[in-house]
Amino acid sequence: MYLADYHTHSRISPDARSPMADMAEAAIAAGLDELCFTDHVEPIVWATTQPRGPYDWQALTEEFARAQAAVGGRITLRLGVELGDAPWDFAHTERLMADAPQLDFIIGSIHMLSAAYGCTDLYYFDPADDAAARRGMADYLELVRQLANWDGTYSVLGHLTLPLRYLNENRGFQLTFDGFEAEIEEILRILIQKGRGIELNTNRGHTPLPDEKWLRMYRDLGGEIITLGTDAHDPTYVGCAIRERQELLRRCGFRRFCTFRRMEPVWHEL
Ligand SMILES: [Zn+2]
Repeated sequence: MYLADYHTHSRISPDARSPMADMAEAAIAAGLDELCFTDHVEPIVWATTQPRGPYDWQALTEEFARAQAAVGGRITLRLGVELGDAPWDFAHTERLMADAPQLDFIIGSIHMLSAAYGCTDLYYFDPADDAAARRGMADYLELVRQLANWDGTYSVLGHLTLPLRYLNENRGFQLTFDGFEAEIEEILRILIQKGRGIELNTNRGHTPLPDEKWLRMYRDLGGEIITLGTDAHDPTYVGCAIRERQELLRRCGFRRFCTFRRMEPVWHEL
Protein backbone atom coordinates (compact mmCIF):
# COMPACT_ATOMS: atom_id res chain seq x y z
CA MET A 1 0.00 0.00 0.00
CA TYR A 2 1.26 3.45 -0.89
CA LEU A 3 1.87 5.46 2.30
CA ALA A 4 1.96 9.25 2.32
CA ASP A 5 1.74 11.80 5.14
CA TYR A 6 0.22 15.01 3.80
CA HIS A 7 0.09 17.23 6.87
CA THR A 8 3.37 17.91 8.68
CA HIS A 9 5.04 20.93 10.24
CA SER A 10 8.75 21.69 10.43
CA ARG A 11 10.68 24.48 12.14
CA ILE A 12 9.45 26.83 9.41
CA SER A 13 6.14 26.82 11.37
CA PRO A 14 6.05 29.01 14.48
CA ASP A 15 4.75 26.09 16.57
CA ALA A 16 7.30 23.43 15.54
CA ARG A 17 11.07 23.02 15.93
CA SER A 18 12.29 20.16 13.75
CA PRO A 19 14.28 20.57 10.55
CA MET A 20 12.52 19.20 7.48
CA ALA A 21 15.43 16.79 7.05
CA ASP A 22 14.66 15.23 10.45
CA MET A 23 10.98 14.92 9.55
CA ALA A 24 11.98 13.25 6.29
CA GLU A 25 14.25 10.76 8.09
CA ALA A 26 11.36 9.92 10.41
CA ALA A 27 9.12 9.34 7.40
CA ILE A 28 11.66 6.94 5.91
CA ALA A 29 11.94 5.11 9.24
CA ALA A 30 8.13 4.86 9.37
CA GLY A 31 8.11 3.20 5.95
CA LEU A 32 6.41 6.06 4.11
CA ASP A 33 6.71 6.43 0.35
CA GLU A 34 6.00 10.15 0.33
CA LEU A 35 6.00 13.12 2.69
CA CYS A 36 4.52 16.56 2.16
CA PHE A 37 5.54 19.52 4.33
CA THR A 38 2.66 21.85 5.11
CA ASP A 39 4.05 24.65 7.24
CA HIS A 40 1.70 27.36 8.45
CA VAL A 41 0.98 30.46 6.35
CA GLU A 42 -1.63 32.94 7.60
CA PRO A 43 -2.77 36.44 6.64
CA ILE A 44 -2.10 37.54 10.23
CA VAL A 45 0.90 37.47 12.52
CA TRP A 46 0.89 34.18 14.45
CA ALA A 47 -1.18 34.36 17.65
CA THR A 48 -2.35 37.93 16.96
CA THR A 49 -4.91 39.62 14.72
CA GLN A 50 -2.33 41.91 13.09
CA PRO A 51 -1.98 41.62 9.30
CA ARG A 52 1.31 39.98 8.49
CA GLY A 53 3.99 41.28 6.13
CA PRO A 54 5.33 39.25 3.20
CA TYR A 55 5.94 35.59 3.92
CA ASP A 56 9.57 34.43 3.84
CA TRP A 57 9.21 31.99 0.96
CA GLN A 58 12.97 31.79 0.55
CA ALA A 59 13.38 30.35 4.05
CA LEU A 60 10.79 27.71 3.14
CA THR A 61 12.34 26.71 -0.18
CA GLU A 62 15.88 26.64 1.25
CA GLU A 63 14.77 24.39 4.09
CA PHE A 64 13.05 22.11 1.58
CA ALA A 65 16.19 21.97 -0.59
CA ARG A 66 18.25 20.95 2.46
CA ALA A 67 15.82 18.11 3.17
CA GLN A 68 15.90 16.97 -0.46
CA ALA A 69 19.67 16.92 -0.40
CA ALA A 70 19.73 15.00 2.90
CA VAL A 71 17.43 12.18 1.85
CA GLY A 72 18.42 11.92 -1.79
CA GLY A 73 16.09 9.52 -3.57
CA ARG A 74 15.06 7.55 -0.50
CA ILE A 75 11.60 9.11 -0.29
CA THR A 76 9.42 11.41 -2.39
CA LEU A 77 9.21 14.86 -0.79
CA ARG A 78 6.62 17.47 -1.70
CA LEU A 79 6.37 21.10 -0.69
CA GLY A 80 3.01 22.37 0.48
CA VAL A 81 1.65 24.82 3.02
CA GLU A 82 -1.24 24.95 5.44
CA LEU A 83 -3.01 28.18 4.58
CA GLY A 84 -4.83 29.07 7.78
CA ASP A 85 -7.67 31.47 8.47
CA ALA A 86 -7.97 33.01 5.02
CA PRO A 87 -11.47 34.40 5.85
CA TRP A 88 -9.74 36.78 8.24
CA ASP A 89 -8.68 38.77 5.14
CA PHE A 90 -9.16 37.09 1.77
CA ALA A 91 -7.60 39.95 -0.20
CA HIS A 92 -4.49 40.01 1.98
CA THR A 93 -4.27 36.21 1.77
CA GLU A 94 -4.31 36.41 -2.02
CA ARG A 95 -1.52 39.02 -1.99
CA LEU A 96 0.58 36.80 0.29
CA MET A 97 0.12 33.75 -1.88
CA ALA A 98 0.84 35.63 -5.11
CA ASP A 99 4.55 35.56 -4.21
CA ALA A 100 4.61 31.85 -3.40
CA PRO A 101 6.96 29.52 -5.26
CA GLN A 102 5.52 26.56 -7.16
CA LEU A 103 3.86 24.52 -4.42
CA ASP A 104 2.65 20.95 -4.70
CA PHE A 105 -0.27 21.17 -2.29
CA ILE A 106 -2.20 23.61 -0.11
CA ILE A 107 -4.37 22.78 2.89
CA GLY A 108 -6.99 25.42 3.62
CA SER A 109 -8.00 25.48 7.26
CA ILE A 110 -9.57 27.44 10.10
CA HIS A 111 -7.95 27.74 13.52
CA MET A 112 -9.60 30.87 14.91
CA LEU A 113 -13.13 31.76 15.93
CA SER A 114 -14.73 34.91 14.48
CA ALA A 115 -14.49 38.49 15.71
CA ALA A 116 -17.56 37.78 17.87
CA TYR A 117 -15.20 35.59 19.91
CA GLY A 118 -12.31 38.04 19.75
CA CYS A 119 -10.75 35.87 17.04
CA THR A 120 -9.75 33.40 19.75
CA ASP A 121 -7.63 30.53 18.54
CA LEU A 122 -9.55 27.27 19.08
CA TYR A 123 -6.66 26.09 21.23
CA TYR A 124 -7.58 28.78 23.79
CA PHE A 125 -11.38 28.50 23.45
CA ASP A 126 -12.58 27.60 26.96
CA PRO A 127 -16.40 27.40 27.00
CA ALA A 128 -18.27 27.03 30.30
CA ASP A 129 -20.53 24.17 29.18
CA ASP A 130 -21.71 22.07 26.23
CA ALA A 131 -24.12 24.75 25.01
CA ALA A 132 -21.40 27.39 24.91
CA ALA A 133 -19.04 24.93 23.23
CA ARG A 134 -21.63 24.21 20.54
CA ARG A 135 -22.14 27.92 19.89
CA GLY A 136 -18.39 28.13 19.28
CA MET A 137 -18.55 25.10 16.99
CA ALA A 138 -21.32 26.81 14.98
CA ASP A 139 -19.17 29.94 14.71
CA TYR A 140 -16.26 27.80 13.50
CA LEU A 141 -18.42 26.07 10.86
CA GLU A 142 -19.56 29.44 9.52
CA LEU A 143 -15.90 30.38 8.92
CA VAL A 144 -15.31 27.00 7.27
CA ARG A 145 -18.30 27.71 5.01
CA GLN A 146 -16.77 31.05 4.04
CA LEU A 147 -13.47 29.32 3.30
CA ALA A 148 -15.27 26.70 1.19
CA ASN A 149 -16.96 29.44 -0.81
CA TRP A 150 -13.72 31.32 -1.42
CA ASP A 151 -12.26 30.90 -4.89
CA GLY A 152 -8.64 31.26 -3.77
CA THR A 153 -6.23 28.43 -4.39
CA TYR A 154 -6.12 25.45 -2.08
CA SER A 155 -6.33 21.70 -2.58
CA VAL A 156 -8.18 20.31 0.43
CA LEU A 157 -10.01 21.52 3.50
CA GLY A 158 -7.96 20.63 6.58
CA HIS A 159 -9.22 18.96 9.76
CA LEU A 160 -12.94 19.69 9.27
CA THR A 161 -13.83 18.87 12.88
CA LEU A 162 -10.83 20.57 14.52
CA PRO A 163 -12.69 22.04 17.55
CA LEU A 164 -13.13 18.48 18.86
CA ARG A 165 -9.35 18.10 19.22
CA TYR A 166 -9.19 20.87 21.78
CA LEU A 167 -12.62 20.54 23.41
CA ASN A 168 -12.49 16.76 23.89
CA GLU A 169 -8.80 16.03 24.23
CA ASN A 170 -7.72 19.10 26.21
CA ARG A 171 -10.82 20.29 28.03
CA GLY A 172 -12.67 17.10 28.90
CA PHE A 173 -15.78 17.56 26.78
CA GLN A 174 -17.34 14.61 24.94
CA LEU A 175 -18.77 16.48 21.99
CA THR A 176 -19.51 15.51 18.41
CA PHE A 177 -20.74 17.50 15.43
CA ASP A 178 -24.08 15.62 15.55
CA GLY A 179 -26.79 18.20 15.00
CA PHE A 180 -24.67 20.11 12.46
CA GLU A 181 -25.50 17.76 9.58
CA ALA A 182 -27.02 20.50 7.40
CA GLU A 183 -24.06 22.85 7.88
CA ILE A 184 -21.47 20.18 7.19
CA GLU A 185 -23.35 18.83 4.18
CA GLU A 186 -23.44 22.34 2.69
CA ILE A 187 -19.68 22.75 3.22
CA LEU A 188 -18.94 19.37 1.63
CA ARG A 189 -21.21 20.07 -1.32
CA ILE A 190 -19.48 23.40 -2.00
CA LEU A 191 -16.02 21.80 -1.81
CA ILE A 192 -17.02 19.02 -4.19
CA GLN A 193 -18.62 21.45 -6.62
CA LYS A 194 -15.47 23.59 -6.65
CA GLY A 195 -13.25 20.57 -7.30
CA ARG A 196 -11.58 20.61 -3.93
CA GLY A 197 -11.12 17.80 -1.46
CA ILE A 198 -10.84 17.21 2.25
CA GLU A 199 -8.17 15.70 4.42
CA LEU A 200 -8.48 12.85 6.84
CA ASN A 201 -6.33 14.23 9.64
CA THR A 202 -5.17 11.23 11.66
CA ASN A 203 -4.78 13.58 14.60
CA ARG A 204 -1.69 11.75 15.86
CA GLY A 205 -3.70 8.58 16.49
CA HIS A 206 -6.61 10.22 18.32
CA THR A 207 -10.14 10.53 16.89
CA PRO A 208 -9.68 11.33 13.19
CA LEU A 209 -10.70 14.79 12.00
CA PRO A 210 -13.24 14.27 10.53
CA ASP A 211 -14.37 10.85 11.75
CA GLU A 212 -16.33 8.08 10.06
CA LYS A 213 -19.77 9.74 9.98
CA TRP A 214 -18.52 12.75 8.00
CA LEU A 215 -16.19 10.74 5.81
CA ARG A 216 -19.20 8.64 4.79
CA MET A 217 -21.24 11.76 4.15
CA TYR A 218 -18.49 13.15 1.92
CA ARG A 219 -18.25 9.89 0.00
CA ASP A 220 -22.05 9.59 -0.32
CA LEU A 221 -22.19 13.14 -1.73
CA GLY A 222 -19.71 12.06 -4.41
CA GLY A 223 -16.54 13.34 -2.74
CA GLU A 224 -13.40 11.59 -3.94
CA ILE A 225 -10.43 13.89 -3.44
CA ILE A 226 -9.00 13.01 -0.04
CA THR A 227 -5.54 13.12 1.50
CA LEU A 228 -4.26 11.59 4.75
CA GLY A 229 -2.06 13.56 7.10
CA THR A 230 -0.90 13.28 10.69
CA ASP A 231 -0.46 16.95 11.64
CA ALA A 232 2.91 15.90 13.10
CA HIS A 233 4.80 18.82 14.60
CA ASP A 234 7.87 16.68 15.36
CA PRO A 235 9.37 13.44 14.02
CA THR A 236 7.63 11.26 16.62
CA TYR A 237 4.26 11.46 14.92
CA VAL A 238 5.26 11.33 11.26
CA GLY A 239 3.19 8.58 9.64
CA CYS A 240 1.15 7.96 12.81
CA ALA A 241 -2.03 5.93 12.13
CA ILE A 242 -1.86 6.40 8.36
CA ARG A 243 -2.27 2.67 7.70
CA GLU A 244 -5.21 2.38 10.11
CA ARG A 245 -6.97 5.37 8.58
CA GLN A 246 -6.49 4.04 5.08
CA GLU A 247 -8.46 1.05 6.32
CA LEU A 248 -11.13 3.43 7.67
CA LEU A 249 -11.39 5.06 4.25
CA ARG A 250 -11.89 1.65 2.64
CA ARG A 251 -14.67 0.91 5.15
CA CYS A 252 -16.31 4.22 4.22
CA GLY A 253 -16.40 3.24 0.55
CA PHE A 254 -13.32 5.03 -0.78
CA ARG A 255 -11.30 3.08 -3.30
CA ARG A 256 -8.45 5.55 -3.73
CA PHE A 257 -6.81 8.57 -2.11
CA CYS A 258 -4.66 11.46 -3.32
CA THR A 259 -1.25 12.88 -3.13
CA PHE A 260 -0.45 16.05 -5.07
CA ARG A 261 2.25 17.22 -7.44
CA ARG A 262 2.30 20.83 -8.61
CA MET A 263 -1.27 21.22 -7.33
CA GLU A 264 -2.56 18.29 -9.39
CA PRO A 265 -3.95 15.19 -7.69
CA VAL A 266 -2.10 11.90 -8.08
CA TRP A 267 -4.30 8.90 -7.32
CA HIS A 268 -3.37 5.83 -5.30
CA GLU A 269 -5.42 2.69 -4.80
CA LEU A 270 -6.58 1.94 -1.28
ZN1 LIG B 1 -4.17 23.14 11.21
